[in-house]
Amino acid sequence: EGQLKGKVALVTGAASGIGRASALVFAQAGAAVVALDRAAEVEDTVASIRKENGRAVRIVADSSDEGNMAEAVDTALREFGALDVCFANAGISGGMVPLQEQTPEHWLQVLTVNLIGTFLAVKHAARVMTPRKRGSIICTASVAGLRSGAGGSPYSASKAGVISLVQTTAYQLSGSGVRINAICPGLIETGMTQPIFDQARARGTDNKIGQLNPLRRAGAPLEIARMALFLASDAASYVNGQAFPVDGGLSAS
Ligand code: NAD
Repeated sequence: EGQLKGKVALVTGAASGIGRASALVFAQAGAAVVALDRAAEVEDTVASIRKENGRAVRIVADSSDEGNMAEAVDTALREFGALDVCFANAGISGGMVPLQEQTPEHWLQVLTVNLIGTFLAVKHAARVMTPRKRGSIICTASVAGLRSGAGGSPYSASKAGVISLVQTTAYQLSGSGVRINAICPGLIETGMTQPIFDQARARGTDNKIGQLNPLRRAGAPLEIARMALFLASDAASYVNGQAFPVDGGLSAS
């Protein structure tokens, strides 16, 4: 409670899953939220925040478009006077496509959203944070960016790229007072992974989903949102340039 009191947070991919949960948690912690998604359902996230007397505006836009991300950051300044937190979280899975069926177009689509979209959020958030000498940027990577077996090839490559972006940008932002970190979620039940859970439930094998995980279960969006809240807050004031698995111990095996 109150960890982000008086702060302003931009969240991309805020219509669903991890982004939606994080927008709600940030607002509950006292932040005014700019919720961006290409899906119109981002309005539901804003409505939920307002219902709890929080402050939020929505932007329906593609996060991989530079003009859109520049405008989203400027909206935070215009509506709420500052930008303290940017959670670059929007992403797509691209599916599990066999090597011989992968095309440059498929790679480009996944890299454009997951890597270039994240870069654009980082670039424009840093543009307005560095003059104020403060701010926290958080990017959603994945355990697939650390140990690639779990995802499709372009997905895993894009998430490894996000981790690299975070590490290099921490140095680029040296002396600016702005921190940047990545979260590497394990398997979380969200819109992206819903087909896995639906299929397993239909087959009655859903108890097998977490079998290889030390905690014997998949994660919930809120469990990622809580890590995002920590990294966003001043409690993480000396945490910078890192990629944190939040995966129930999956990547420890
Ligand atoms: P989700 O599909 O529930 O949410 C992703 C949101 O991003 C959607 O609302 C979607 O509309 C939005 N989005 C996608 N492309 C966009 C674009 N170009 N512009 C604007 N919005 C866009 O999935 P999620 O699991 O909550 O995904 C959030 C992040 O977490 C992603 O980066 C994903 O790769 C990552 N992640 C998820 C898991 C998992 O198991 N669910 C694991 C590791 C990492």
